[in-house]
Amino acid sequence: MVVFEKAPAKINLSLDVLNKRADGYHDVNMVMTTIDLADRVSLYPLHRDDITVVADNQYVPNDERNLAYKAAALFKRTFHITKGIHIELEKHIPVSAGLGGGSSDAAAVLRGLKRLWQLDHVSNATLAEMGAQIGSDVPFCVYGKTALATGRGEHIAHLPAPPSCWVVLARPDIGVSTRTIFPKLTLNDVPSTYTEGVVTALETHDFYAMCDHMGNDLESVTLTLYPEAQRIKEKMQQYDIPGVMMSGSGPTIFGLVEHYSKAKRAYNGLRGFCHDVRLVRVMG
Ligand code: ATP
Repeated sequence: MVVFEKAPAKINLSLDVLNKRADGYHDVNMVMTTIDLADRVSLYPLHRDDITVVADNQYVPNDERNLAYKAAALFKRTFHITKGIHIELEKHIPVSAGLGGGSSDAAAVLRGLKRLWQLDHVSNATLAEMGAQIGSDVPFCVYGKTALATGRGEHIAHLPAPPSCWVVLARPDIGVSTRTIFPKLTLNDVPSTYTEGVVTALETHDFYAMCDHMGNDLESVTLTLYPEAQRIKEKMQQYDIPGVMMSGSGPTIFGLVEHYSKAKRAYNGLRGFCHDVRLVRVMG
């Protein structure tokens, strides 16, 4: 049997950084939601006890550094499985873009191996706990949809989906690693409260209130380091888009738009300005 899993990208609707912890991580409050841009993960049983991984993207490692490999190794260890697995990743989510591609691939491997090896008693909560050992965004990706993530991102509380809307994504041609952004952040004396406002807006299903409250503490670092990302943000704001923000540690900038015609106008305008522009939908 071969198992296929979709691994959707996420965007952040908020990202508040609260404090630095003794273990070096930061506590965050953030709202994330999935969009209809996804990698495709295929899992093929192997006759020998081994893990192999191939991705069709030069920036993704084909060895034990791949988060999909790490997920398979952890799954086999946790459930004492001595069967082998070959993982193929068809990458559609840009790499090091703030869209959670690696984390989503890892989560898809956890879900897919549960199906392939028929471990029906294993809950999503268990998969999410395992995911936290691989990366802070993996627990969210196990569930997908829309959620509030706290702690270093691993504690998940489900939220209502955002009102239906379009997402204009524009990515400058640079990769940003989250690990390089956090240390450069100067923490505010009073922590931001973007998340609180976004959660209330989701609960009241208010698109414009959601856009008004969106915010990301990491923008101050990434947009200063990479002025091309700042320019894309400013360009997108010229299209009168209600919610424009950077996702995760960037550099992808996104805008939320209710109506297709307006989204398409922004998409067309940005294409002359930035070579990777996409128009997708919120799935959350
Ligand atoms: P992060 O916040 O971890 O930087 P991101 O969403 O911005 O995440 P990813 O596309 O997940 O970016 O990739 C981050 C790094 O992880 C890259 O250096 C990449 O080489 C490595 N990586 C490992 N496994 C994968 C994978 N399956 N897909 C994409 N990148 C992967």
